[in-house]
Order: sequence, then C-alpha cells, then structure tokens
Amino acid sequence: MESGTSQSQVARVATLRQQLQAASYAYYVLDAPIMADEVYDRLYRELQDLETAHPQLITADSPTQRIGEKPASQFTSVRHAIPLYSLENAFNLGEFQAWEERWRRQVPAMGAVEYVAELKIDGSALALTYEQGILVRAATRGDGSAGEDITQNVKTIRSIPLRLQTDHPPAVVEVRGEAFLPLAVFEQINQERLAREEAPFANPRNAAAGTLRQLDSRIVAQRQLDFFAYTLHLLPANPQVGPLPGSQWQALELLHRFGFRVNPNRQLCPSSAEVQTYYDTWASQRYQLAYLTDGVVVKLNDFALQEELGFTQKFPRWAVALKYPAEEVPTRLQGVTFQVGRTGAVTPVAELEPVQLAGTTVARATLHNGDRLAALDIHQGDTVILRKAGEIIPEVVRVMPELRPPDATPVTMPGHCPQCGEALVKLAEEAVTRCINRSCPAIVQGAIIHWARRDALDIEGLGVKWVQQLVDQGLVHSVADLYGLTVEDLLPLDRMGPQLAQKLVGAIAASQTRPWAAVLYGLGIRHVGTVNAKTLAQHFPSVEALAVAPSDRLASIDGIGPEIAQAVSQWFANPANQALIQRLQQAGLTLASAGQTAATADQPLAGKTFVLTGTLPHLSRPQATAKIEAAGGKVVSSVSQVTDYVVAGDKAGSKLTRAEKLGLTILDETALLTLISTASDG
Ligand code: NAD
Repeated sequence: MESGTSQSQVARVATLRQQLQAASYAYYVLDAPIMADEVYDRLYRELQDLETAHPQLITADSPTQRIGEKPASQFTSVRHAIPLYSLENAFNLGEFQAWEERWRRQVPAMGAVEYVAELKIDGSALALTYEQGILVRAATRGDGSAGEDITQNVKTIRSIPLRLQTDHPPAVVEVRGEAFLPLAVFEQINQERLAREEAPFANPRNAAAGTLRQLDSRIVAQRQLDFFAYTLHLLPANPQVGPLPGSQWQALELLHRFGFRVNPNRQLCPSSAEVQTYYDTWASQRYQLAYLTDGVVVKLNDFALQEELGFTQKFPRWAVALKYPAEEVPTRLQGVTFQVGRTGAVTPVAELEPVQLAGTTVARATLHNGDRLAALDIHQGDTVILRKAGEIIPEVVRVMPELRPPDATPVTMPGHCPQCGEALVKLAEEAVTRCINRSCPAIVQGAIIHWARRDALDIEGLGVKWVQQLVDQGLVHSVADLYGLTVEDLLPLDRMGPQLAQKLVGAIAASQTRPWAAVLYGLGIRHVGTVNAKTLAQHFPSVEALAVAPSDRLASIDGIGPEIAQAVSQWFANPANQALIQRLQQAGLTLASAGQTAATADQPLAGKTFVLTGTLPHLSRPQATAKIEAAGGKVVSSVSQVTDYVVAGDKAGSKLTRAEKLGLTILDETALLTLISTASDG
C-alpha cells in the first residue's frame, strides 16, 4: 500500500466498486435498478475521487473505467464502427464552469465559442445505420464498443424513418439518439404490469431499455416508444447531401430534414451565460414535458474544435451532462451529536460529510429521536441517503447497510444527558427522550434564550454568546436570576465592556414592563405559544387566577383544549415552577393584566371585533392592536358580517371595500382613539 492510502480507504474503494458493479449490472442488463440514479451518481463520484487521489487503486474493471455493461442477451452482438461514449457529469453550475476551464486549457488561445444546449432525455441510446438511405441496422450502446442488434424491434418505432427523406442519401450514415417512453405510456405499462402481478419498471429509462430488448417485436410495437435524434456521423464524406454539417447545430437541422424527430427545445448559445439560463429554465420547466429528462447536455458547436479536443477513455471532452439538482443523495455519517433543547428533549443530530442537495450544502440533519434511530438501524460510519424535496428540511430517509464498514456499532440514545450527566427519561407514550434536571445548563440556556425573544420578554442584545457565558459561569440558574444581575457581574464576561454591560442591564430592566401575555409565553410552558398565551392572559387577569384554574375550566376555553390545559395545570402544579413565579413577582415582572381586568364584560370593548387596514397616521399596527386588546377588543384579519369595526388608514384596500359593502362601522385613527377613551370612561 502506498503511503497516504489508509486501510479504510482501500476497503471503501473495494466496497464501492462492488456495489456499483452490482448496480450497473442490475441497471443495464436486467433493466431493474437496485438504487436511484442520483445515489449511483454520488457513489460513482466518490469512487472516482478516491481513485484520482490514489491512482494505484484503479483496476481495469472499475466502473469508472467502463461504459455501460457487456450485453448479455440473446441478440446478436454488433461492433460499433465509432464507439458510443458516455458523458461526463457536472452536478452544478460550478462544475460546469470547471469543465469549461478544463477544455480551454487544452486550447489556450481560444476566444468566444458557441455551445449547443440540448435536453438530456432519460432513455436508451440507439445507433442507427442507414445505407443508401435505408435503415439496415439498429444497435444498443452496450459497453460502448459492442451493442446488441435490435433492428427488428427498432423498426416498430414510428418516429424512426425506415428511409431517409432525401433523394440523394449519403452512402453510409450513422444516426444516434435516444429511444424513450413518454411518461403517460410508461405509467400505463406499469399499471398493466401490476395488473398481471409483474414487477413494475423502476423508471422510463429502464422501461425503454427493457422494451428495446424484448424478443417479441409485436410487444415492442404496442409500447409506443419514441425517439429523438441528436448525433449524425456521415461515414464517408458524401457530396450528394449538400454541404456537410460543420457544427452540431447544422447536424441537428440536417437530421430534421432527413425526417427524424429532433428535440425542439434545443438552443444555440453564444456563450456559457446563455447555457446557465437554459439550465435554470429547464430545471424548473422539465416537469411540464411529456417525457423525463435528467439534465441538459452541453456540446461545443464547432466540429473542428470537437475534433481537436477528442475523447478520454470514456467521454468526449467537448460535451458535458449538466445534471439537475438531486433531491436524494448518499453521504457518510461522521458522527451523531445529541442536543438538549429548552424542554429537555434530547435530539440526535447526524453530522455528515458535506454534500450538495437540491442546490444547498448539507452537513447536518436531525434524526429526531430514539425511535427513529432504531427504525433507521443507523450505525457509525454508515452511508446514509439524504432527501430534501422542495422547501422541506433535509432528512435521513434510510441507510445503506450494504456499504457499512465492518464492526460498525449501532447508534443509540445515550442513557445520560450529554450536558449535565443526569440519567435521561423516556416515557412509554412519548418518542422523545428527556433530561429532567431543571438545572441542566442546556435547559437553562434554552429557557433564557426563549425568555429573551422579541415576542416574549424582548430583551435586546441578550444573545446566545452572552447566555452561554452567564450559565457556564454560574451567574444565572434561571430566568429570574437575570433580574439580579449588575454591571459589575457582567464585566468579567469575555468581550464585555462597561457600555455594553450597562445596555444589557437596562434591557433586562425594561423587560419588567412587558405585558402579562408576553411573560406567560416567555415561561416556555409546553404548547403555550404566543397565541395561546394571549388567550390565557385574556381569560385569566393574573398569574394567581391562572395557577389555580382547574384543568377542565382551561380546556373549555375556545382554542385551548385538553392537551394544552393539562400542560398548563401540570406546569403550575410543579413546586419549582411555583417558586420561579414567586421570584419573578419579587423581581417586579408584570404577571397580571393592566388594572387586573380581563377581557370580561367589565372591559369597555369586550366582545367587539376589529379589522385593521391601511396605514394609520400615528399608530403602528402592533400599537393599534395593543390598544384595542388592552380595552378588551379582539383584532382579526378578515372582514365579515360579525366584524364590529373596521379601522381604515391610508391605502386601505379590499378590506375597506368589503366593509363598505357590508355596511360596517368604519373608523379612522382619531375615531378609534375616541371610542377607546369614551368607552373606558363610561
Ligand atoms: P448518461 O446516461 O449519464 O449519459 C450519456 C447518455 O446520455 C448517452 O448515452 C445518451 O444515451 C444520453 N443522452 C440523452 N440525451 C442526450 C443528448 N441530447 N445528447 C447526447 N446524449 C444524450 O451516461 P451513461 O453512461 O449512459 O449512464 C450512466 C448513468 O446511468 C449514471 O449517471 C446513472 O445515473 C445511471 N446508472 C444508474 C444505475 C443505477 O443503479 N441506478 C446504474 C448504472 C448507471
């Protein structure tokens, strides 16, 4: 073994190669893939990278050194006069630019060039030979040097001309393109297969390849295969066909004139900027096509330049397949960390080898809880499949046990809190494992950060870095301790200065005037978010009233319900929480509504609903809302017959029109303020 190559790298190369070989056989020969293309592509890239870094590990039979598979069917083998190459993959625009830089290095003086951008049709490549304009042979790509003779089957494809549409055909011409199944046909075939209790095809590409290799041409004829032509090789130059194409663009036009279907969505791009726009456009518009595409193929237009660049063992250097962002990719688990949230919930988080997924780099993903760990059967060092569809957060959907390192141990939930070392607790009916030590630094930190949030106590400047230090240095053990902090206490903190300390102490003091609902939300009771906190604060004018409210009374409140009611009752039943409330009261926090009046009949605007629209001259939306709510009114977002008042400001829109139609009372800012003050006086 060469120095720099570790035992584990050698083992990884061997495992990858073995799995990719098995996948390739299943894919090309059996037409029944055992892994998703995106997964195959990533593992292939991993092998390729390892081989580049350690060339001594390359073997001739490595999947990186071969195109496709040797055909293993009953069809006669055909040697290709010109090999059918594969295409190099670029997984994002950065890789496309790297490809461009690479070919330019080979022809240093080259100025601007044209590209032809084509859709990468997800089908099966065909090589069609025409002699004197007549289709004489059709072959699959096979391993690139030799394919299968499937002429009889190909003759059933209606969009492949049996005779070229020209009076002066070239002596011999080879046309290449993609045979594919339109999505609708693919789905129909699979339904029929399911009805006959046969395994459905994994994707249209395998269905097309499987169909082309059917022994019974009548079945092929029924399957409605289609074909787009994209390459033309005029074997001996033939003056009778007119001027020979000097570029890919001209070749596509000639193919069209010969009677082939050529994909209409091709584009001649004067520079790589247009290629990038083409790619971006089709990455989203591809779903509107009647067939599947898995990227775009970019080719240098000029044939002379193509010839100069030539081929590697596997790919043309003048073309690249720019694949669409993957929604599912494999990556390796580097470890699992366990995070303790403010409720004590312990969440396992997968630390991953960074990977590009749906356009972003992902290095971490939640594994949710112990039940999920067990269901995934995830082991240290596992190759995991990450998925991210649309806006959804990346998730580990499954692991690949076949790529597991030997002796890997399963990942399980720890028995003790990684932060405070106390034993963790898991209730039978819950999936979550919790730390129940109230002084656990992670829980205290989480509680304080929540407390300081804008919609809770709104303590400006009290960010994670300060909270961490305050808790680590034992200055704060609960949110109540914040109110005893002095400038002198804060000064020793790392990167703290007198001005900042003064500001922070001021911000903490200012939070004492935050309303009761905000404090209630800040307590972080389970299920009590801002909306529930407001509802509860409206019904219970003080913490004393709420603390003694029976659970069924809470549950009867509109919007609360039994689960929330139980969480609230339990919280107040806990002596430690009762002590906290007492300390907060001593610290001067607002634990009751102003004037201790709730939204009951004795409040001036009790039971009245308001809708705000447009911009008021002096009051902001939150200020107007606060005033209405303080007087017992309710602010809702849409106008209906039961709305009592619509407060309209500048640029009021459809809500005002609707209010006028319904004949509702419309107020401006002055009228609103008058209403509040006169109602309060009365
Ligand atoms: P490829 O399919 O990625 O690209 C080359 C092929 O693109 C050509 O042969 C041609 O058939 C096709 N193509 C479509 N439109 C084209 C156009 N406009 N111009 C030129 N060519 C066009 O490469 P490949 O070598 O055929 O196959 C490798 C791919 O097959 C992998 O990237 C992987 O996604 C898939 N594969 C999957 C598995 C699996 O287990 N899922 C196994 C092996 C291979």
